[in-house]
Amino acid sequence: MDNTWEPVIGLEVHCQLATATKLFCGCANTFGEEPNTHTCVVCSAQPGALPVLNQGAVKHAVRACLALDAEVSEHSVFARKNYFYCDLPKGYQISQYDRPLALGGGVALPDGSRVRFERIHMEEDAGKAIHDRGSRTLVDLNRAGVPLIEMVTEPDLSSSEEAKAFLVALREILRYTRVSDGDMEKGSLRCDVNVSIHHPNTPFGVKVEVKNLNSIRHVGGAIEHEIARQTEVLEGGGRVVQETRAWNPDRRETSTMRSKENAEDYRYFPEPDLPPLVLARDWIEDQRTLLVELPAARRSRFQGELGLSEYDAQVLCADRSVADLFEGTLALGVAAKDLANWITNDLMRALGERDLELEDGRLSAKGLADLVRLVQEGTIHRSAGREVLGSMLESGKDAATLVGELGLEQISDPSAIEALCRTALLGREDVAAQVRDGKLKALGALVGPVMKASQGKANPKEVRDTLLRLIEDAAG
Ligand code: ADP
Ligand code: ZN
Ligand code: MG
Repeated sequence: MDNTWEPVIGLEVHCQLATATKLFCGCANTFGEEPNTHTCVVCSAQPGALPVLNQGAVKHAVRACLALDAEVSEHSVFARKNYFYCDLPKGYQISQYDRPLALGGGVALPDGSRVRFERIHMEEDAGKAIHDRGSRTLVDLNRAGVPLIEMVTEPDLSSSEEAKAFLVALREILRYTRVSDGDMEKGSLRCDVNVSIHHPNTPFGVKVEVKNLNSIRHVGGAIEHEIARQTEVLEGGGRVVQETRAWNPDRRETSTMRSKENAEDYRYFPEPDLPPLVLARDWIEDQRTLLVELPAARRSRFQGELGLSEYDAQVLCADRSVADLFEGTLALGVAAKDLANWITNDLMRALGERDLELEDGRLSAKGLADLVRLVQEGTIHRSAGREVLGSMLESGKDAATLVGELGLEQISDPSAIEALCRTALLGREDVAAQVRDGKLKALGALVGPVMKASQGKANPKEVRDTLLRLIEDAAG
């Protein structure tokens, strides 16, 4: 018998849908605004107020299900999940229970393995309880009624590394399809992890659920801590108790929240105020045809058709806007490899330095193509090009205009370059002699000062040629 402990992990991921309005009312779906400014009779649960399903949210949810390869049901049913907490004014959450929006589906990991979904369903978010100074709890209902999908995986994962890779791949798909911004810091994507350990070829062990992890790092930490804790319990002859635990990121450990509630505790029943959600097969298939190419397919196309490296394809495809910019610029006749360098190095750095996402910047494909050409034609240096790129992101002006405004035009005028070279040669007969002896490397001692004197604007090839000519002329 194999006595090693094998972890078994399943995730329940909640994702806020990027709709304009909430799931059952017309309130704006916003984040980070003044508390309780986006509420109405429906989402604050006034007596007699009735929910009306947001069609846009259904579209987002179906798009997610299709992108995740799940089987969308033509008939799903909203249900009430009853529990009491101050952030849930109705006393129940409208969710889906035995008839979820979709079954099956999955996400491929970079190593080729696949994590399957049990189900994907729609539900509404609760409000936010803010525990203020430990003495009182304040409630913000702006989040109450925001549309969510919950994606429940099969227990297919076996390490924290796999769980993290899964979340990265899942988030990428949700962002690509514009289902969600997938921002874990803002709570758009939240994850509960279920962890157990067992010996291979024996039944699964008792699972523990760790709730409300809001970063991929915390997911990894919670899983690792649970594996270690459960191993210690079992090796010490104890038993793992089925329960819900919380992750404490400062102490890097989990602790008991409550013993596991059963489904009966929620007293699920069909939502009487909403009809079943009925979707025509044709409509579902129409949504499928509207799906964009997903990141994994795009990466392999970039490698196969354009001959890009795995790394370049990875960086370019991680963000749909970046990949779109790449393809848009490519279509304007810029060479793939050169363009990939510009984007993966220079553009990524420029965005990082400004803490910008590409969508927030003002760079167009035409703008980028013009810039790459200015450098190729030698009008400006590559290093000047970087500076222009940063300004383009901020101002949205075209490259040629910025070259003029920033005074970055390369000096190619022979007489100007010759004058600079003559100055650099003064008193450097030692270097000239070395160059005449065939030590061309020595020339660097002169090129540097010329470039400096020109503030980096001299064309370096012309500087070298001119210096060589002057040195030879002096010898002759
Ligand atoms: P519950 O009835 O507690 O909701 P489910 O069977 O619905 O449990 O599973 C919830 C999540 O827990 C799923 O992601 C599933 O993959 C995972 N899971 C189920 N059994 C185990 C187990 N023994 N160890 C780890 N994860 C598990
Ligand atoms: Zn409302
Ligand atoms: Mg369950």
